[in-house]
Amino acid sequence: MKKRLLYTAAVLAVLLALVTAGILFIEFYGRKIHCPSLTLFGQLCPFCGATRMVRALIRFDLTTAFYCNPALVILIPVLGFTAASYGVRYLRFGRLNLTRLQAVLLIASLALLLIFGVLRNFLPLGLTA
Ligand SMILES: [Zn+2]
Repeated sequence: MKKRLLYTAAVLAVLLALVTAGILFIEFYGRKIHCPSLTLFGQLCPFCGATRMVRALIRFDLTTAFYCNPALVILIPVLGFTAASYGVRYLRFGRLNLTRLQAVLLIASLALLLIFGVLRNFLPLGLTA
């Protein structure tokens, strides 16, 4: 249990460092990270607007965040729950496999992102190209 706790703390510290570095990069480098899909094909991908969404979430501006990328805003609590339940299960029982619920949530999230990525180029779903 102690080894798993240390391992989990190390993983969380690395994730926190990466997120912090990403936020600092976004804030100081500039407003845009160029999307290959948008640059090459002129089509929005499922993650277009994510940078602006993160910037809006940092300011607690949920309306703007939802406008920038509604699918990711919806999926944040779902993926957060999945990650938290996965972490708790690992800490308590040492199991690294997904439960059926976690697998269903991840597959549904991926499906939502794929559908959103296609539909957002044809329907007015927030940010447009
Ligand atoms: Zn994109």
